[in-house]
Amino acid sequence: MTVQLTNMQTRDVEALLHPYTNAVTHRAQGAHVIERGEGVYIYDNTGKRFIEGMAGLWCCGLGFNNAELVEVAKAQLDKLPYYHLFAGRSFEPAIELAEKIKDLAPGMSRVFYQSSGSEANETQIKLAWYYNNALGRPDKKKIISRVKGYHGVSIVSASLTGLPYNHKSFDLPVDRIHHTATPHHFRGAHAGETELEFSKRLATELEQMIEAEGPDTIAAFIAEPVMGAGGVIVPPEGYFEAIMPVLNRYDILCIADEVICGFGRTGEWFGHQRLNMQPTSISMAKQLTSGYAPLSAVAINAEMADVIENHSGEIGIFGHGFTYGGHPMGCAVGSAALDIYMREDIPAKVRAIEPHFRNHLMTHKDHPLVGEARQIGLLGALELTPGGNAMFSQPGKVGAHLATRLVEHGVILRAAGDSLVFCPPMTITEGELDELFAPIGACLDATL
Ligand code: PLP
Repeated sequence: MTVQLTNMQTRDVEALLHPYTNAVTHRAQGAHVIERGEGVYIYDNTGKRFIEGMAGLWCCGLGFNNAELVEVAKAQLDKLPYYHLFAGRSFEPAIELAEKIKDLAPGMSRVFYQSSGSEANETQIKLAWYYNNALGRPDKKKIISRVKGYHGVSIVSASLTGLPYNHKSFDLPVDRIHHTATPHHFRGAHAGETELEFSKRLATELEQMIEAEGPDTIAAFIAEPVMGAGGVIVPPEGYFEAIMPVLNRYDILCIADEVICGFGRTGEWFGHQRLNMQPTSISMAKQLTSGYAPLSAVAINAEMADVIENHSGEIGIFGHGFTYGGHPMGCAVGSAALDIYMREDIPAKVRAIEPHFRNHLMTHKDHPLVGEARQIGLLGALELTPGGNAMFSQPGKVGAHLATRLVEHGVILRAAGDSLVFCPPMTITEGELDELFAPIGACLDATL
C-alpha cells in the first residue's frame, strides 16, 4: 500500500539509505520519524507517544532523558571534546571508566576501546590472533561462533554472526570462522531429550567440530550469554557448564559478547555470571553508555594481557585502533552510567521486577500463535508460529506483522525472525510493563 508521504518523509527517502530496511517498502510507506524521548517513552513528530519495549536497539537501559548523563556529556565537551589513546596519549575519563569496568568484571585486567559492538568483536578476533602469534602458535586462528549468534556487521563480525541475512549477498562468512549449533531446546532438541541431555549433546558436537578441524587450529569460541538478535534464546540448563570444559581441554579462548547482556540486563552485572560462562575476554557496548554515546570496550584477562604486553617488542606493536575508540565524551558518559547502575543497584532492580515481567510473558504462552515464551532478567521473547493464516507461512512474516500492529497501539517491539522480542529500559516500572503488555493479547488474537 502506498501512502502520501509527508515533507519530512520525502526528505528522508531522498537523503537516506536505512540499515536493515527494505528500500522499496520504505519508499512506499515512509519513515516513522522520532523526535524526542522521556523516561521509557519516545514521541514521534506528530506528537504521538510510544512505550519503548526495546530500549532503542537494546541499549537505553536508563531510558531516554537521563539528565545526569546529558550534563556529563556537555561538561566533557566543554573541557576536552576530542582526544585519542594512540601512541602513549591518555586522559582521565578513559582511565577512570576502565578502572570501573575492571572492578565490575572480575578477572579482567586491561580494557581496549572502540565505538561499536561490531568493532569490539573485530578487536577480539585481532587480539586472539595476535595472542597466538605471540605464543608462537601461528596456526591456531580459527574461531567458532554459533548459528543465530549476533556479533555485528563488519566483515569479520558479520562472519561471526550466524544469521543468513547477514551473510547472503555479501559472500560471507570469511575463512577460518565456523558455526556450531544454537542452544535452543524448543527448536533443536530431539524428542524426549531433556535440557541437560541437549546441552551435553551440543558440547559433544562442539568437541567433534574441534577434533575435525584440529584443536591446534582453533583460537577462540565466541558466544552471547543469552542470544539477543537471534531471538532472545536463553541457553538450556547446563549449557555453559558443558561447553566450558571442552574449551579448556583444547586451550581455546572464551569470548563473552556482553554487548546486550552487560550491566544488569540479566539481573547480574554480566550475563556470563548468571549463565556460568567463564570468559577470557568480554565485549561490551550499548548499555556501557546507556546508548547516549557510541562507545564499546573489550576487557581481557591478566593472562592474555601479559602475553600481549610482553611480546609486542618481539612481534611488533598491536597495530590496531580506531580514531574514536575511547572518545572522551563517550568515556565520561560511560563512567557516569556505571555510577548510576552501581548507585541504584540496577542488577537488583532487574531481579526485583523480573517476576512481573515473566508473568506477563507467560500469560501468552498457551496462545495458539505462541510456540514458546522465554525470559531471563529483562530480556524476553514470544516465539510465534504462523498458525493457519497462509499470509504468514514464510519465516519472519508473523513477527513483522505483529510488531507493525503493536505500533498502532503505541508499543515499540521488534521481531527477531519469528520471535517477538522484549528488552525494555531497566528503569521500567511495573505499571509501565502493564502498559507495554496491554495490547499484546488482542494483537495476537487479531493475527490468528
Ligand atoms: N554483539 C551483540 C551481542 C549485539 O547485539 C550487537 C548489536 O546489536 C553487536 C554485537 C553489534 O553492535 P553494533 O551494532 O554496535 O556494531
